[in-house]
This record gives sequence, structure tokens and C-alpha cells, in this order.
Amino acid sequence: MPQKAQSMPELTVVVPVFNEAENIPELIQRISATLDRCVQSFEIILVDDGSSDGTLAAARAARDADPRIDALSFSRNFGKEVAIAAGLDHARGSAVVIIDADLQHPPEAIEAMVTKWREGYENVYGQRIDRRFDAPLRRALTMRFYHLFERFGETSLPPGAGDFRLLDRKAVNALLRMRERARFSKGLYAWIGFKSIGVPFQVAERASGASKFSYGKLTRFALDGLTSFSTMPLKVWGYFGGLISIFALSAATFFIVRTLLLGVDVPGYASLIVSVTFLAGVQLLSLGVIGEYIGRIFAEVKGRPLYIVAEHLSRDEQAQASGAARIGNAAE
Ligand code: UDP
Ligand code: MG
Repeated sequence: MPQKAQSMPELTVVVPVFNEAENIPELIQRISATLDRCVQSFEIILVDDGSSDGTLAAARAARDADPRIDALSFSRNFGKEVAIAAGLDHARGSAVVIIDADLQHPPEAIEAMVTKWREGYENVYGQRIDRRFDAPLRRALTMRFYHLFERFGETSLPPGAGDFRLLDRKAVNALLRMRERARFSKGLYAWIGFKSIGVPFQVAERASGASKFSYGKLTRFALDGLTSFSTMPLKVWGYFGGLISIFALSAATFFIVRTLLLGVDVPGYASLIVSVTFLAGVQLLSLGVIGEYIGRIFAEVKGRPLYIVAEHLSRDEQAQASGAARIGNAAE
């Protein structure tokens, strides 16, 4: 197959996009304007995560205007974390920037990240200064989650760091080796290590549309994060069970001794029911926790591809040029 005569870009920008058609033109324009100033060459990969609006058409229009833009389109919505993984899989740059499509991450901040990268940092994360554009309930729950993660997670996350970041090729290659399905990217970025530094940025208001994360989606994401980076929820039931057993044994001893000394008392119906239901509750809860992990083990063991690409703009062009038919493929 004839390879396109195109040299490797210095920087790749990966953008997960889900129903963001209106934001694409401004996004591309601002990213290009910034990168023209600070890198020799770049490519922008839009990963269309199964959008149902005109996102793919907008991507195609952007590509027609500028061949440095490429787009992958998933066969359905696989989630932002998987979209990022697909972008990293296809990135060719010596460094990769991950950025949201809704312009909450200011593209102009990439310049400062590139400066840090040139200084030798391999994991340059955008550090949000505040969360004032998040709904108060979401902000409170997010804070709660990070406290829990800080306490029980096996990896510590730098405060304010998110997906907006620049990763050197070495860090990208490390991430490419992690094919887990329950993906909590923030944890993975921290887990791989490398020389890291934060670049502060002010989160902007969403340019258009609404957040694509419902509370349901966020809860699943938080569970993925905790179960991927902590086994505490599995272990805590052992300690809890131990404590309850000690308590139950002492109570049994107390009752035996009392019965021997004072004879049979009025049967303790209430306390019996209370302890039986309490223990049943604890057991079901702990089974539920085990179920959360087993469900994830099941998903990993199945070993399905992370995502299915339905269309890949630059690849499709090559296929057309060589007269080959495009074959739907898994993870390419
Ligand atoms: N996104 C995605 N797939 C999804 C949900 C979101 O690719 O299933 C993208 C979305 O288009 C945006 C980024 O992920 O570029 C962040 O999403 P959003 O702005 O809705 O999240 P928030 O800023 O509320 O955390
Ligand atoms: Mg957003």
C-alpha cells in the first residue's frame, strides 16, 4: 500500500469529541494558531466517540481545509477514556497533548506546556486553578471522591491535574502498554511516573452545549477509579467481619455465663432480629463490593478490543487512492 509522503509531526494533539460539532471550528483555529507559534509541525487527531450530531462532518470539513487534521470515528459511544486511548494509539508525534473539545481547556496554554517539555519534563499536566464552572453538587462530590482516592488509592494524584496535559513519547509508549478496560486515565498518568510538572490554567466556561457527563456516568467513572487503584474496598470487609466476630463471641460468652448463673431470661426477640438483619445487610454489601471487582475482572478477561473504529479519515483517503476496499476493523 503506498504510504503517504508525510513526515512525522513534532506534536500530536488528541481531542476526544462527543457531540461537539459547534465547537470544532474554533477549537481547530485556536489550537493551530498556538502550535504554529511554538512547534515545527503538528497533527490534530479528533476522536469522534460515536457522536450523533454533525461532529464527523465538521471534522471532515476541517480536514479538507487542513490535511494536518485527522479524525477517527468510533462505531458507537465508548466513553472519553477509551477515546483518549484511541487517540494515543494513532498519535505519531514526539509529544502528545490531550485536550477537551469544549474549549474549557484553553489551547493557548499548550505553549507553556511545550516550553516545559523542551526543558526536559515528560509529563506536563495542566493544573486547574478552580472549578467554578462545575455545578456545586458535582464540585462537592468530586472533592469527596478525591479525598477518598487520596486516602485509599495506591497512587497519589497531583491536585488539580486532569486530562489536559502534554506527554512525551516515552510516557505515551508507557500508556500504550496499559490496555485495561476500566480506564481511569488520571490514575494511569500518575502511575507511569516520569519527570512531571504542573502548568496552571484557568478553566473556561463550556463554549457551547452541555457537559456530556451525567451523574450516573460520573459515578461509574468514580467506581472505576477507586476499584482500579485500590483494593481497600475488598479488604475492609475482612477487618469489619473480624470486629463483628469478636463482638459476637464476647456477647455469646456473656449470655452463656448469665444463663448458667441466672437461668433462662425472657427471649431477646428484638435483639435477635436486629443482629440477623444487620449481619445480612453487611454480607450483601460486602458481596456487592466483591461483585464490583469480579465484574471488572470479567471485563478484562474477555479481552475485547478497547474500541471499534468505523471510519478513519486519513486511512480512508489512502484506501481510496490505492483502490482498496475499506474493511471494518477492530482497534486497527
Ligand atoms: N467526551 C467524549 N465521550 C464521552 C463524553 C465526553 O469523548 O462519552 C468528550 C467531550 O466531547 C469533551 C471531553 O470529553 O471533549 C470532556 O467532556 P465534557 O466537557 O462533557 O466533560 P466535563 O467538562 O463536564 O467534565
Ligand atoms: Mg467540559
